[in-house]
Amino acid sequence: MQGATAAAGAAANTSQGLDVAKLRADFPILLRTINGHPLVYFDSAASSQKPTHVIQTLTDYYERHHANVHRGMHTLAAEATDMYEAVRRKAARFIGGVDPSTVIFTRNATEAINLVAYSWGEQNISAGDEILISVMEHHANIVPWVRLCEKTGATLKTIPLDENYGLDLSDIDTLINKNTKLVALTRMSNALGTINNLAPIFKKAHAVGAVTLVDAAQSAPHMPTDVQELDCDFLALSGHKALGPTGAGILYGKAELLDNMPPFLGGGEMIELVTFEKVTYNHVPHKFEAGTPAIADVVGFGAALDYLMELGMENIREHEKEITAYALDKLSQFEWLKIYGPADVDKRGAAVSFTVEGAHPHDIAQYLDSYGFAVRAGHHCAQPLMKALGVTATTRASFYIYNTLSEVDSMCEALAEARDFFKV
Ligand code: PMP
Repeated sequence: MQGATAAAGAAANTSQGLDVAKLRADFPILLRTINGHPLVYFDSAASSQKPTHVIQTLTDYYERHHANVHRGMHTLAAEATDMYEAVRRKAARFIGGVDPSTVIFTRNATEAINLVAYSWGEQNISAGDEILISVMEHHANIVPWVRLCEKTGATLKTIPLDENYGLDLSDIDTLINKNTKLVALTRMSNALGTINNLAPIFKKAHAVGAVTLVDAAQSAPHMPTDVQELDCDFLALSGHKALGPTGAGILYGKAELLDNMPPFLGGGEMIELVTFEKVTYNHVPHKFEAGTPAIADVVGFGAALDYLMELGMENIREHEKEITAYALDKLSQFEWLKIYGPADVDKRGAAVSFTVEGAHPHDIAQYLDSYGFAVRAGHHCAQPLMKALGVTATTRASFYIYNTLSEVDSMCEALAEARDFFKV
């Protein structure tokens, strides 16, 4: 396959807002070759690559500033604490300008959702209550609720898919009822790319007194986030999908909810007074950050937020709409390829799932890898969704700020070749 090497190397500037050719130089990993071909990284929905700014921030933190946070009386401890707490303020700005004390650092979106399930859930959910999620949720927004239902006797309800890979809201007034205590939904599906319009659903949830949670793991790295506009009570995201290091994510929660919730984990940092008989707790957010946090990763996440905010989340969204529209157009010309996800780029993000007639999604991913393309294949941690789609797996190409139209061209060439290779 000729095209991949030449075209993937030439990073076209694909959109007005982002200088893609320039920003690609910030990502050292893009210089790698894989199986003799330039890396084309189409797996950012699983985890994004990291710009030099983030990598250097990590190094600088460890080389010059590291100490444990909050409890030290020395200069380094104060510096590390300042750096760590500065990221809390940055993250608060990134999600729409909230009070920084409502931002809790977690390892990732999974831990953020589990925190709500264990802490808020065990205090507020009991037999007869209902929790509403959707068929397109990632396991991170399914398993904690299944477990909570098992423990409490509550019931898990699901919003089905409509024919355009969106949420079918025809029964929403039955699904949200006086028993509904929590509505937890993804803003962007990792497997379909669908962007859900959550505010009207949350309005109904609030009308019956239910609490709302947004899984923003996929949306937050790719489009503006404003928790006030979303009208959510909780929001979870992972830094590693948004140019940050692994090990740092956030949970946002409304102050009155967080204040009333019991701690999730117990240990150092989260206490006020400890005796063998009784423990009193630190105030929010520290009540939820037991033990030594991932200080360096949080500091690195702050550098990633700076980088994203400098590019502008609107510009990022526009770039991804352009590349996704281009990919959907090209892929839909293959009559042997089926796309799972909305056709309208206004209703979707940049994760494009597909199957190729006559070839297993894993074989397609491996074939692409032999030409340097990193794509994902499998159930994408969304087994109930796969069941609803009637497939066991798909191949997924997901785009981010550093991807170009010419990379999409090369993948399409490689896919056509793969189709010929696997055709019986
Ligand atoms: N929700 C969605 C929609 C996701 O795509 C992911 C990651 N694939 C998660 C939650 C969980 O993220 P993490 O593994 O970083 O906790």
